[in-house]
Amino acid sequence: MENLATHSIDTPHGVLKEVFGYSDFRDGQLDVIQACLDGRDSLVLLPTGGGKSLCYQVPALLLPGTCVVVSPLISLMQDQVAQLQALGISAEFINNSLDRAQQQAIYQRLHQGEIKLLYVAPEKILQNEFIERLSHLQLGLFAIDEAHCVSHWGHDFRPHYCRLHELKHRFASVPMMALTATADLATRSDIVTQLGLQAPFIHTGSFDRPNIRYTIEEKFKPLSQLMRYLRTQKGQSGIVYCSSRKRVDDIAEKLVEAGFNAAAYHAGMSNEQRQFVQNAFARDDIQIVVATVAFGMGINKSNVRYVLHYDIPKSIEAYYQETGRAGRDGLAAEAIMYFDPADIGRVKRFFEDIEDEHRRRVEEQRFSSMASFASAQTCRRQILLNYFSEYQREPCGNCDICLNPPKRFDGTLVAQQALSCIYRAEQRFGLGYIVDVLRGANTARIRDNQHHTLSTYGIGKEHSNEYWLSILRQLIHHGLVAQDITQGAALRLTEGARSVLRGEYALQLAQPRLEAKHVYQDKLA
Ligand code: ADP
Ligand code: ZN
Repeated sequence: MENLATHSIDTPHGVLKEVFGYSDFRDGQLDVIQACLDGRDSLVLLPTGGGKSLCYQVPALLLPGTCVVVSPLISLMQDQVAQLQALGISAEFINNSLDRAQQQAIYQRLHQGEIKLLYVAPEKILQNEFIERLSHLQLGLFAIDEAHCVSHWGHDFRPHYCRLHELKHRFASVPMMALTATADLATRSDIVTQLGLQAPFIHTGSFDRPNIRYTIEEKFKPLSQLMRYLRTQKGQSGIVYCSSRKRVDDIAEKLVEAGFNAAAYHAGMSNEQRQFVQNAFARDDIQIVVATVAFGMGINKSNVRYVLHYDIPKSIEAYYQETGRAGRDGLAAEAIMYFDPADIGRVKRFFEDIEDEHRRRVEEQRFSSMASFASAQTCRRQILLNYFSEYQREPCGNCDICLNPPKRFDGTLVAQQALSCIYRAEQRFGLGYIVDVLRGANTARIRDNQHHTLSTYGIGKEHSNEYWLSILRQLIHHGLVAQDITQGAALRLTEGARSVLRGEYALQLAQPRLEAKHVYQDKLA
């Protein structure tokens, strides 16, 4: 396959049409390309699937010399290079998966000016030997893909990226283009400073992904919730994110036992195992990948129909990135998260182990935004986009809150039932136990405690387990009940509970959102 750039295609539109076979640029692509052709640095902020690659691939074919693309993942490089080669473009990658002879062959072609796009891992590009080679080449452009990896603020900091500013020092006249799908402001400005971009042209696309439906479901019995959902998704590809390796293994195993076509993916597995799962997922041989956040940037799959968070992610950025892997083909897709307010405390305790105080505060701050997003009762998309400074006035019509608005009711009576049950059980028991007493469960523990003789035993048996859990959680939110972490999360009444018990005012509660999905199932199609 010979170098198409030697043909007489000499305009961005010409390249777009003749090489890539597309008729129009997307919003902003041409501006970025033009800035680059004018020799300017640039920062390209587009969501996943937004078309970042063309922003540097087109100028790479128009500028004299080689375009060097820094990309953090071998699998990503291989995919891109294969796609480019299939279009007849002379693209190669160089990383430690190639042996010496293969690398030498590429160097030779580089020096002969035969390679238009060279993909390189950051650790490779920073080796003195490699920089030395570059200095003998004609360079058209540096493209830094996944540029947020340079930022301590970002959700995916990588130490090697930090040193990329050395490229700008060494090759000041070569334009540099930084690309990322990360949307938060702190990371954006950090990228510019860390890479040393000079008066960059900045393009910010919309971060809205209208085809993704956001849903947050209360977490009750997450495994059965998950299986019930997966049964509605037969034959579709999806990702289930969990917060720990152990949970990933556990859930993947249970899904397989239940007959689902699922596999686990996390950083504790060998490279071969991970590669195998990723490839099988790409080929649709595996439908469900249960993963930690380690399953990330390498997924270049367009038909992921759902991304499900089994646990709350650590930041809105991470949530947005992970959910963004759904629906890259533009067709309807779902982002579902199971949320138990008690997880907020659990995650916060995890931050206490972070030694660097600044880092700890940053993490806490990011997480508290995530926690309030999860607990909020307003349009999910509005909150997300407003968080990324993309002001949205109208609710979206395609999230659980818009489709199934929370209903309020006078919860005084159920609150009184729950509060007096906690009181009569001497404020020594946790959520699950109190729910059992309210529902009149026949358990040994209740009999041993003589709680089947309480007047509140079975007082709420007409409601489900989930219903009562939801009510109790709301009472905690309202500050009427406190959870004593030092005493096995025992529930205690607070000062505020007294006036509710006396019926001094009508307590408004949200109708528990049980089986939220099925309520609007018919609107789904
Ligand atoms: P990103 O890197 O931003 O996640 P990609 O560069 O992989 O996104 O682009 C996503 C998809 O959109 C690719 O299939 C790409 O070929 C396609 N695409 C990008 N720009 C255009 C365009 N101007 N016209 C048509 N398709 C495009
Ligand atoms: Zn909405």
